[in-house]
Amino acid sequence: MQKIKMTTPLVEMDGDEMTRIIWKMIKDELLLPFVDLNTEYYDLGLPEREKTKDKVTFDSAYATQKYGVAVKCATITPNKQRVEEYNLSEMWKSPNGTIRAILDGTVFRAPIIIDSIKPVVRNWKKPITIARHAYGDIYKSTEYRVPSAGVATLSFEGKDGTKFSQTIYDFECAGVLQGQYNKDSSIISFAHSCFKYAIDTKQDLWFSTKDTISKQYDQTFKLIFEDIYNNEYKAKFEELGITYFYTLIDDAVARVIRSEGGYIWACKNYDGDVMSDMVSTAFGSLAMMTSVLVSPDGKYEYEAAHGTVTRHYYRYLKGENTSTNPMATIYAWSGALRKRGELDGLCDLVAFADKLEEACIDTLNDGIMTKDLTGLVDDGVKVTAVNTLEFIKAIRERLEKKLA
Ligand code: NAP
Ligand code: MG
Repeated sequence: MQKIKMTTPLVEMDGDEMTRIIWKMIKDELLLPFVDLNTEYYDLGLPEREKTKDKVTFDSAYATQKYGVAVKCATITPNKQRVEEYNLSEMWKSPNGTIRAILDGTVFRAPIIIDSIKPVVRNWKKPITIARHAYGDIYKSTEYRVPSAGVATLSFEGKDGTKFSQTIYDFECAGVLQGQYNKDSSIISFAHSCFKYAIDTKQDLWFSTKDTISKQYDQTFKLIFEDIYNNEYKAKFEELGITYFYTLIDDAVARVIRSEGGYIWACKNYDGDVMSDMVSTAFGSLAMMTSVLVSPDGKYEYEAAHGTVTRHYYRYLKGENTSTNPMATIYAWSGALRKRGELDGLCDLVAFADKLEEACIDTLNDGIMTKDLTGLVDDGVKVTAVNTLEFIKAIRERLEKKLA
């Protein structure tokens, strides 16, 4: 068989621990035999980040800006224990944080769903994609413990001389105080990423805040979205038959639970943090959550939502068999290859990505799955629990038939 050709390089970001092992298995079994892989390789594994003083992470993000599409393996975010374990000269920052800051992107998380695993919410039939505005609000807030009675004020001094000051509360006793902020530029980027991704995936976009209570702060989010939608995206949405829908967060929560799924739900930072855990848990397994970072100018970085699966890695190092689920990492590759194919007009590459995902779903529908999923399937479905390599080989068998 002739291997499928690529024209523009795909930015490949390798990672750590169990996912690094799986990364190689996926390439060897599911990609290299079929695709003439053209990647620009960056090793974001912790030893290489240490060796390059984290330059490799920055370089990989700049390469993503240049070429437009990246695929990333999970990486360790160092903490104190990792600094000792890897003998690091510094506690390097989270690669995801660095890449997100450079691309100014928004993260979209969506579950991979299969027939035999029903979501806890029974009427959910299609994936719900959560878009979280990962900037500002309480994550960048300034807080005080108020020790005793006294006046708290909120004040601003503009470079242009604008000034305002207002009493927040005249405390008669001890309490708590918090100041938070966001920036128009960040909200605008968030809005563009959301509208672009909705068009890209041809899904409705929902956005929710608490603008009835927060008449300046949340209202600003609402108005910026509305303005950008009306001026730049409305025509395209109408052409595709998709809708943009704004509603209060309380109303959104109620509608989400009653819905069938199949849309993107854009959330402010805190709402997105909380809701994405709720939605992913209700859909099943973290190992089945995909994640894509989309920048406001349309650059894409695909990955799995889960981490490096450390506990499995230590077992693997002892020579034990592990049944780590590679689905989300495979989908990171298929997502990135499909996007590369779309941008470069390579129908074969797009078709390959589709067939790879179909082969994955067929394997799961045949009951062949890793151990994290076997306990989740409906009663009466016959399952065969396999280890990671066996699972990948079962996918390969089905993929070969589809490509023949
Ligand atoms: P994790 O790697 O997501 O794993 C947590 C647990 O979830 C695992 O121990 C495993 O449970 C289960 N799990 C996750 N993915 C699975 C898969 N593919 N197949 C089967 N089970 C899976 O999270 P963590 O242990 O908190 O973090 C480990 C490292 O990953 C940390 O160093 C963290 O910094 C990093 N991390 C990276 C990213 C990223 O790069 N995007 C994201 C999150 C965390 P059982 O052990 O019960 O089987
Ligand atoms: Mg969270």
